[in-house]
Amino acid sequence: MTKPLPQKTPSLKDFRRIVVKVGSSLLVDSAAGRLKRDWLDTLAADIARLHKDKRDVIAVSSGAIALGRSVLKLPKGALKLEEAQAAAAVGQIALARAWAEALSAHKLAAGQVLLTLQDTEERRRYLNARSTIAKLLEWRSVPVINENDTVATSEIRYGDNDRLAARVATMMSADLLVLLSDVDGLYDKPPAKGSNAKRLDVVPRITPQIEAMAGASGSELSRGGMLTKIEAGKIATTAGTHMVIASGRVAHPLKAIADGTACTWFLTPANPVTARKKWIAGSLEPRGTLTIDAGAVRALRTGKSLLPAGVIRVDGAFGRGDAVLVRGPDGAEIGRGLIAYDAEDAEKIRGQSSAEIKLILGYSGRTEMIHRDDLVLGGE
Ligand code: GLU
Repeated sequence: MTKPLPQKTPSLKDFRRIVVKVGSSLLVDSAAGRLKRDWLDTLAADIARLHKDKRDVIAVSSGAIALGRSVLKLPKGALKLEEAQAAAAVGQIALARAWAEALSAHKLAAGQVLLTLQDTEERRRYLNARSTIAKLLEWRSVPVINENDTVATSEIRYGDNDRLAARVATMMSADLLVLLSDVDGLYDKPPAKGSNAKRLDVVPRITPQIEAMAGASGSELSRGGMLTKIEAGKIATTAGTHMVIASGRVAHPLKAIADGTACTWFLTPANPVTARKKWIAGSLEPRGTLTIDAGAVRALRTGKSLLPAGVIRVDGAFGRGDAVLVRGPDGAEIGRGLIAYDAEDAEKIRGQSSAEIKLILGYSGRTEMIHRDDLVLGGE
């Protein structure tokens, strides 16, 4: 899906699904204790533009804690975990409302999605989060995502939205991740006043030297700030997603990138679908086998998903989200994929039409036994 990139720096137009991460400092004016609504309106206008050009846009927005702090008028200084969580509970409402209003000015519906680390890291929950976000995109609304700060506990939270955004991008097979922050890219040394630090235009690969630069670029923007961005870059680029770090300190920040503003691009050699399929084909141990009929084999080969109706036999003890082998009626391996049902339920619905699923299982599960995005056929 990602086109090969002929020129050194790609252009926003090259991408079809874009995740835009917005840092807290861009959205919240801590001194004035309020959300920077005017700026958000310019970003929403840019998102609407991309959306009109048939791009899928997903926002990952920070700011819940900072905003909650302002609303509650909490004193300066570090917050304890439960204070940060309670502040996020207050701030998230205001944050979501601001996004909903800003997007609705362009007739776009915002869908709030609050994720925890487990939602992106555990395959079963991952499938759930992914289908919800996919449905929002299919409905042409804009998912607005944040970490579920009020319930995420310290050991099992992202804590930073750079990595969360990278995982969302890879989970959704996005081809671009935009990190809008208060820096306009990666510098080869700390970009302090008077230093001759140079911003890199393109990082073709994240090498140890690049990581060392991130460690060095401490400023009021914080060391961790750039480090988590490089971590995000590693997650994104290994999964086939390009990343760009650009300044959000300007109005219309996405338009600015499209117009070629200074920023740093991190390129990926892969494309997201290929990278994901490689992962399914290569690194997952199959836990079971589905044998399917000839009609289903033909359907899969024309790019369709595997429906319960085409499954003749279910073997193995697998859970929802596990990898399974798919065999044709003669036993030949057709491919492998991530199954949307556990073995017991798969056995109950095999051979049945998707409309019967709810009746048989007592809940409305996925229409597909294996969605085509989760399926790799031999030779792919
Ligand atoms: N999830 C946090 C919030 O909304 C932000 C994390 C970050 O700054 O990266 O306040």
